[in-house]
Amino acid sequence: MRIGAIEAGGTKFVCGIGDEEGRILDRISFPTERPEPTLGKVIDYFRDKGVEAIGIGTFGPINIDPASPMYGHVTTTPKPGWTGYDFLGTLKKEFDVPFGWDTDVNAAAYGEAKWGAAKGLDSCAYFTIGTGIGVGVYAEGKLVHGLVHPEGGHIPVKRHPDDTFEGFCPYHKDCLEGVAAGPAIERRWGVKGSELGADHPAWAMEAYYIGQAVATAVLMLSPKKIILGGGVMKQEHLLPMIREEAKRYLNGYVRDERVLAGMDEYVVAPGLGEIAGLYGALALGLAAAGRA
Ligand code: ADP
Ligand code: ZN
Repeated sequence: MRIGAIEAGGTKFVCGIGDEEGRILDRISFPTERPEPTLGKVIDYFRDKGVEAIGIGTFGPINIDPASPMYGHVTTTPKPGWTGYDFLGTLKKEFDVPFGWDTDVNAAAYGEAKWGAAKGLDSCAYFTIGTGIGVGVYAEGKLVHGLVHPEGGHIPVKRHPDDTFEGFCPYHKDCLEGVAAGPAIERRWGVKGSELGADHPAWAMEAYYIGQAVATAVLMLSPKKIILGGGVMKQEHLLPMIREEAKRYLNGYVRDERVLAGMDEYVVAPGLGEIAGLYGALALGLAAAGRA
């Protein structure tokens, strides 16, 4: 079975072909431009590939309510040309196959649950900490959509006492994303996160914020695994610091060894590495083909 997979990111698109064993047989990547040229490349790529279904995990916010006339559209985004764009409809016109359609983070959570760090578990939360912060939730064997879809990147956080940066979220200023996404690090310290040494105070502050997000996920959702991905998490020393902050915040309240002594296996990096999103899109495609 050949299944198409599209990981639509704010910076780049990755398209690939996979099979039901979770093997990626081919893939390409190109920068995200305005919708027409970008989807033009997607259509060209899949044109002769003979796929039986296509799964899409995309940046958003997007409409994922099948009962809505706006299903398959991007809702609001600062990315030029994409607000209100009929992403799914544009592809459906070209390919007469079943489509899976969900957020990039839900796709990543799904891929991780099927083949990655949460394999065999019926729940996990997947955070991406990159240009923005997003959260995908898989619970009791299903991706969580709810009213629109979770937007856990914009939760309120307690300010770090030494943080004088006002935050960059255009809606909330100092929500989680506003103080802890990659651009917050860059604006606060005047250099990109990738250029800050492991002993720079930026990382303690970052862990303070992400640790709260992890604790919030534990308290709100009680997922069986918490997976932290995205560009900022390339700083490998950050993960142990985040675990410590989450533990400090929870302060023994959740009495389960998996959250206490077992934190190293509970809060982890993506098992599928940087292509968790593409695997997730493949998993969505398989589900659309009835082969989940
Ligand atoms: P996106 O969120 O756009 O899909 P990424 O997940 O790669 O893409 O996140 C990009 C963000 O991660 C940028 O803000 C960048 O500065 C930051 N970033 C990338 N690499 C590193 C690194 N090694 N250390 C710290 N921050 C990084
Ligand atoms: Zn916000």
